[in-house]
Amino acid sequence: MTDKIIDGKKISSEIRDKIRKFSDVLKQESGKTPGLAVVLVGENPASKVYVKNKIEKTKEVGFNSIEHKLDEKVSEEKLLSVVRELNDDENVQGILVQLPLPKHINSDLVLDTIKPIKDVDGFHAENVGKLWSGLDSLVPCTPLGCSILLKKLNPDLSGKNAIIIGRSNIVGKPMAALLLEMNATVTVTHSRTSNIEELVKSADVLVAAVGIPEMVKGSWIKKGAIVIDVGINRIERDGKKILVGDVDYDECLVNSSMITPVPGGVGPMTIACLLLNTLFTSYKQFGIPEIKLSDIFE
Ligand code: NAD
Repeated sequence: MTDKIIDGKKISSEIRDKIRKFSDVLKQESGKTPGLAVVLVGENPASKVYVKNKIEKTKEVGFNSIEHKLDEKVSEEKLLSVVRELNDDENVQGILVQLPLPKHINSDLVLDTIKPIKDVDGFHAENVGKLWSGLDSLVPCTPLGCSILLKKLNPDLSGKNAIIIGRSNIVGKPMAALLLEMNATVTVTHSRTSNIEELVKSADVLVAAVGIPEMVKGSWIKKGAIVIDVGINRIERDGKKILVGDVDYDECLVNSSMITPVPGGVGPMTIACLLLNTLFTSYKQFGIPEIKLSDIFE
């Protein structure tokens, strides 16, 4: 059974090693070091853990890390002015504003204030439009990570059914664009879809991004399907706090041909892809001939 498990931790570590090498070459050729700025507002414990991890990994690949920690009550105008300063800062090639933001702040406005070329989360409307038009763009990190895992397993999904559960801007929708690009026949399901179980039963590829612990049952999985579990849910089981995904891992392992575990599947790929986006856009901003995903995976 273990040969079915997609080891996101190992794959992401290999990607980060490659990024480090490309980052060294870029520094030699340009005389500059890529900088990734992270803006954290408030004290959300999960966000603090993600940001700490992102900063560590940023430094490990040889990028500069620029951190802005703002009070929970910071005004929208102040946050926008921080983003504008980072837009103009030549030492910053990537800007990430950690979500969720406090309710009094218009997240869409903040994300759309980031310069598209520095938008390493791929959430700016210009990057979203380019992704859907099949143009070169910065792609949201979690779906990019899922697509890299899929390309490693089965680069051509022509004639395959891909079912996505969840239609968020962060995961579900960009995932649909990437799966279309890979020639899959894509169905996006969500909270108002009435026959999810039936649809999932037809999936050759399933991407679950819902936020409901172990929603997908083993009996829903077609024999040989690839299961990508994006969900990260904290639950208590047998008196212990544990992380589980959106699919029932033990049950879904049986019929699937390949499956991502939680933790250790998609999660580590997200950070690797953030660094990958920072590397790509740094090449662009430093005026060095661009690299492509295929250069990283050769
Ligand atoms: P979200 O809350 O923004 O979106 C959830 C989606 O699920 C919505 O589109 C909603 O329509 C759909 N949904 C809700 N209830 C449903 C139901 N009963 N049946 C079918 N669809 C339903 O969440 P998100 O930001 O897309 O994240 C989804 C999950 O992925 C969460 O567990 C989150 O923690 C995780 N996540 C993981 C990573 C990572 O790096 N691994 C990154 C982002 C999100």
